[in-house]
Amino acid sequence: MKTNQGLTQFEMRSEFLAGNSPYSGKVLRVNLSTGEIWVDEHSDDFFRKWIGGRGLIVYYLLKETAPNIDPLGPDNLLIFAPGILTGTVLPGTGRHAVGGKSPLTGALASGEAGGWWGAECKQAGFDAVVIQGKAEKPVYLWIKNGGAELRDANHLWGLKTGDCQEEIRKELNDEKIRVAQIGPAGENLVRFAAVMHDINRAAGRGGLGALMGSKNLKAVAVRGKFKIGLADKEIMKITQKWITANYKDMMGWAIQYGTSGSVKGNHDGGVTGIRNYQDGSLEGIEKLDATSIFTWLIKDRDTCNRCPVRCKLVAEHLGDVYIDPRYGGPEYESIAGLGPMCQINDPLVVGKANELCAAYGLDTISTGGTVAFTMECVDKGLLNGFEDMPKFGDGQSLLDSIEKIAHREDLGEWMAEGSARMATRIGMESDQMLAVARGQELPYHDPRLKNAIGMGYAVSATGADHMANLNDTFATWDGSDICVRLRELGIETPLKLWGISDHKIEAFFYETAFKNFLDSAVICHFYPYEFHHMVDALNAAGGWNMDMHEIISIGERIINTARMYLLREGFTAEDDMLSARLFQPTKVGPIAGKAMTPEYLKDALQKYYRRMGWFEDGFPTEETLVRLKLINL
Ligand code: SF4
Repeated sequence: MKTNQGLTQFEMRSEFLAGNSPYSGKVLRVNLSTGEIWVDEHSDDFFRKWIGGRGLIVYYLLKETAPNIDPLGPDNLLIFAPGILTGTVLPGTGRHAVGGKSPLTGALASGEAGGWWGAECKQAGFDAVVIQGKAEKPVYLWIKNGGAELRDANHLWGLKTGDCQEEIRKELNDEKIRVAQIGPAGENLVRFAAVMHDINRAAGRGGLGALMGSKNLKAVAVRGKFKIGLADKEIMKITQKWITANYKDMMGWAIQYGTSGSVKGNHDGGVTGIRNYQDGSLEGIEKLDATSIFTWLIKDRDTCNRCPVRCKLVAEHLGDVYIDPRYGGPEYESIAGLGPMCQINDPLVVGKANELCAAYGLDTISTGGTVAFTMECVDKGLLNGFEDMPKFGDGQSLLDSIEKIAHREDLGEWMAEGSARMATRIGMESDQMLAVARGQELPYHDPRLKNAIGMGYAVSATGADHMANLNDTFATWDGSDICVRLRELGIETPLKLWGISDHKIEAFFYETAFKNFLDSAVICHFYPYEFHHMVDALNAAGGWNMDMHEIISIGERIINTARMYLLREGFTAEDDMLSARLFQPTKVGPIAGKAMTPEYLKDALQKYYRRMGWFEDGFPTEETLVRLKLINL
């Protein structure tokens, strides 16, 4: 493979150059084994069918990878995919998706990240980047204004994300370059390593950082000058004006404190997993909430491309515990995972742990889940012979564990495999101590309270995923964007909190279709867009005549393609399940005594399969595949 040969240049089509299309029609292809760089050209029909983001990821994975490949082998694909709306004038569209076969679960990994990388990639002329093979030595991919080249990355290997970004910008002499990269955790193939963007935005879930590391690919740097256009700018103005007029009222929570302002409320409501999902409450939880740390630890706010909301809080601390503001600040999921999950209520520890995860490139959700599981093992005397093992409530041992995981040192070698593999290595015969779905650590929305989210964790091809899901508690509040969308479809709201009724399955069907569409478009889930806003936005982008039902079909198509991929990889309906810990009620706290049974979940899943047009064994029927145009992909 040759590197530093100069950019291989591709011609852009005229509508794109003229600003009359949000996509160039070009997917950049790179084979790291041979050094070849080329493009796939796609038609308007292709974009109308797959949209981009997660849609494009599942399309390429199912079409181009053979069954049962090693996720860390050269045949896996690493796909960076902005969406059709990424980089357009619409607020909330500064996101993109990253995907591949998950090194953690063996199923689909598809994570969305904010920041600026996705818009810059589109401005550089590419609707997605699909990378295959494995480089002999560390390389990085440089993409600029319709061209791409592979460059040597030996000098970058081993660097933390902040230093690597600085080096790349210096080397290419441009401070505005956007960098997607792995840290040492990805290089060391930690199975829950993240791909980091702008050093503090993670495509975190499923071990995509390990996938990137397995290819000897340190970074993908992008810079572009093309303007992302629209087929019909007037139609877009309708949605643009509506969100500009309403976002301050409708997104006040995000403007004030971001998700970090929900820590205490979630804890008090029984949402947060505590002490490896064993306990019902944590003393001192208020110390972790943004309302407590806003002035002394949170020093600034950050945002994503085209977003006036600025929900990202930036932490900085000087003194004994230095917290570097370049790495942003912890959001709800990171606080919950690195805090209560490990029985820690010290905001400095959580802030520092969050910084280390961003610098080493680790998923904070799985890091918290795996360390908490290890702490419980230590508590129960199941681990011996390691130095300074992590203990519940011991902040320093959490920070030490993150270092060890990133470098695969000592017990970190075990933890780097994730909690489910670690349980097998310890010789556990049951999953009583695990909080996982499809082998992936759970986000911090407790399925013992949120039963539909639990069903979503169990059935999702991406494993435990709280984003492309129905959030039960929001569905009980009539003013929430979920309820507004459901009413648009004629579904009665609000929904009851507990249980998975037929009514809730109907809501789950539509909401997960909508969220999968959002992850393909790719749009921030915090924006309260309704179906008709998305219809207008898509028609403005592509010059189409879509309606609400087409958006739902797109979401269904993506879920079904992911399902076919999952089944092809050997998963069965039996795997649509939560681990045993999540059926054990807590003894105290707001949800004490409550939990679904596995039988209840299985019954709900059968109803969901029927609603999806799947057989009892979870396979889509031929009728479903024909309806969604999924025969002969
Ligand atoms: S609301 Fe927050 S996550 Fe969403 S686009 Fe804006 S800054 Fe990014």
